[in-house]
Amino acid sequence: MNMQYQRIAEVCQQLKLPYICNEWSHHVQHVVDQQLSHVDLIEQLLCGELNARHQRSKEMLSKVSGLPTVKTLDTFDFNYATGIPKQTIQTLNTMAFVHRAENAILLGPSGVGKTHIAIALAHTAIQHRMITKFITAADLMLQLSIAKKQDRLKAYISRQVLKPKLLIIDEIGYLPFGSDEARLFFNVIAKRYEKGSIIITSNLPFSQWAGTFNNDSVLTAALLDRLLHHAHIVQMNGESYRMKNRKQMGFSLHNAVSEKTTGGILFD
Ligand code: ADP
Ligand code: MG
Repeated sequence: MNMQYQRIAEVCQQLKLPYICNEWSHHVQHVVDQQLSHVDLIEQLLCGELNARHQRSKEMLSKVSGLPTVKTLDTFDFNYATGIPKQTIQTLNTMAFVHRAENAILLGPSGVGKTHIAIALAHTAIQHRMITKFITAADLMLQLSIAKKQDRLKAYISRQVLKPKLLIIDEIGYLPFGSDEARLFFNVIAKRYEKGSIIITSNLPFSQWAGTFNNDSVLTAALLDRLLHHAHIVQMNGESYRMKNRKQMGFSLHNAVSEKTTGGILFD
């Protein structure tokens, strides 16, 4: 390598410009071959570095997001169930609601695609380079309780609850919370109120949420008041997508449940 190449590599390293460091000679060649200008060369190098930086930032955001898997709206079959409000979901996918610190609540029975849509929206937020955190309600409770016991609740809330631009809490309603947990959860909602977006999924209508929060109707009302003040409610209806293949094999969810309770077949 000649001395000038060496010096360019060192300067790029100091300025943290890995794309330009690796790619500048190809761009120079391209500009010569295509008879482009010096200004074109500078623009190509700077845009290339910026794109590479954005790509790295999305990969990092995805790694720390806690997303269990990759799901997108492209793989969601809006024709499968009739009760999926496609327009609302597509509007949410523009991320305008996140910029306005509004919430989205996805409600509906098991298997209609609530978690799929929540993950897809999280994925879009990451493509917009927003700090995004996905967590199940049960895991959030566990982590809040541990942080409280270890006297680091404030640090946990500031890092995991307040820092993300979009917080997704999946599966409210599957596990009931005790009174301490219910209060911790209220704290999460109250702290983010009008400051940052939350997406929540739940199989329960709001009228049954108190049952999840230790039958504390005062706390539940105060929680819903904050959560729903600036919220998009997405009611999703239809049959479980998990039953799609089973249905083709002649099963129905209703039969499967009754067989399960009588010690019959198991399903996920
Ligand atoms: P829920 O959270 O409502 O219980 P999930 O989002 O976990 O349901 O959906 C269950 C499974 O079915 C997931 O693998 C999800 O990707 C898939 N799924 C659900 N609805 C659809 C759909 N309309 N199109 C494609 N896949 C779907
Ligand atoms: Mg789910």
